[in-house]
Amino acid sequence: MRTNSAHQRDTRYLIHQQTNLDDYARDGGVLMARGDGVYVIDDRGNRYLEAMAGMWCASLGFSEKRLADAAYKQMLELPYYHTFNRAHMPSIDLAEKLIEIAPKVGDAEPLAHVLLQCSGSEANDTAIKLIWYYFNAIGRPQKKKIIGRQRGYHGNTVATVSLSGQPHMHRDFDLPLGDRFLHTENPHYYRYAEPGESEEAFAERLAQQLEALILAEGPDTIAAFFAEPVQGGGGAITPPATYFERVQAILKKYEILFLVDEVICGFGRTGNMWGAETYGIKPDLLTCAKALSASYQPISALLVTDAIYEAMLSQSRKLGTFGHGFTYAGHPVACAVALETLKIYEEDGIVERVRDLAPRMKAGLEALRDHPLVGDVRGVGLMYGVELVADKRTRLPFDPKLKVGQLVLAECQKVGLIVRAIEDRIAFTPPLIITEAQIDEMCGLFRRGLDAAWAGLR
Ligand code: PLP
Repeated sequence: MRTNSAHQRDTRYLIHQQTNLDDYARDGGVLMARGDGVYVIDDRGNRYLEAMAGMWCASLGFSEKRLADAAYKQMLELPYYHTFNRAHMPSIDLAEKLIEIAPKVGDAEPLAHVLLQCSGSEANDTAIKLIWYYFNAIGRPQKKKIIGRQRGYHGNTVATVSLSGQPHMHRDFDLPLGDRFLHTENPHYYRYAEPGESEEAFAERLAQQLEALILAEGPDTIAAFFAEPVQGGGGAITPPATYFERVQAILKKYEILFLVDEVICGFGRTGNMWGAETYGIKPDLLTCAKALSASYQPISALLVTDAIYEAMLSQSRKLGTFGHGFTYAGHPVACAVALETLKIYEEDGIVERVRDLAPRMKAGLEALRDHPLVGDVRGVGLMYGVELVADKRTRLPFDPKLKVGQLVLAECQKVGLIVRAIEDRIAFTPPLIITEAQIDEMCGLFRRGLDAAWAGLR
């Protein structure tokens, strides 16, 4: 038991999220004190390379002064105002900017209107409400079910976690809710492809399974499909080749809306401004958060097409109001920080930067394939997953009771590297400002963490 009084007060008063509370109450955790570029420093002076950018989000690292200045300036000018029947300049400028940079893929109907919210969960939760609202408005009220994917993650509100394919977030919370949320297969090629199955054949099989689900439920009851371009909370899982092409053909056939969840992939992570551009996705709705403000302020956005906005307008004519809103949505300080973030991305050429760094990241992590623990290395841009297996030849997973992912995470932390373990898959999404030398450092520290874990397992 730590004796430091801050640690004692932490375990006494603060409830931690997505944490084994029993372990935490006994062992305590790391108390993070300050940031320095891609590094964070704890209260004991230990320095860690943050290979997850916090929670897949601090795209500009942990000490970007321009964002602090933007927040301070806005605080002096107009520290708060809502957006119910009112506007303020930062919210207008941000909405316009988001539409300017929104993905433009092929003949997709453009995303033309923006609803600002506070978190990724809120943006997706609002999207679910809007999708129901939309189908009521256009006279198809039976279209209500929403399809997510196993291991997909869209947030932690009652609705978004129901849509997420994360059973450990459902258990004993009496979730998932009702019969409006369905889950289709996970596109994890390494784990679920048959031996010898090509990526294209695997994608085809997944598309057929999606179609079978739609037909079994009744296409007239299915409103929308939600997908992350690369699944984050599922373990940094990139889709197999042709997957989104095949899936979109089916959605189009049955008039099902596509919401692309860009909460992690948006703003350069995959080597394009949007994951939708990397994978040729033509969304009807798009949600983004995290890197929108480099996570220096809580803010998210939901972008919709004219068709969806027109239906909302008609509802206001009919019902007298758009009955949805949060006190802090479109907060001026968060908008000002987001605008400054987008400015930095533009000035620093963040997308080109990711493209330039991607080969180094790929080479550094691929080199770890020789390690006895490493089965799979797969990713895109600056987003990778490394899967740990008991037998590389047969891809046999470890017994979950061994908690190998957690063991590797702990060993990495000891040598000054913060990663995330999703079961036995280790995720990497470093700040986009990372340098080539720091990528090398990250991969070197990871090898040391793997070696220590391997020694402990033998
Ligand atoms: N969508 C995706 C893809 C996410 O990864 C997350 C969070 O990690 C969310 C939604 C939820 O965002 P938030 O935690 O800001 O509510």
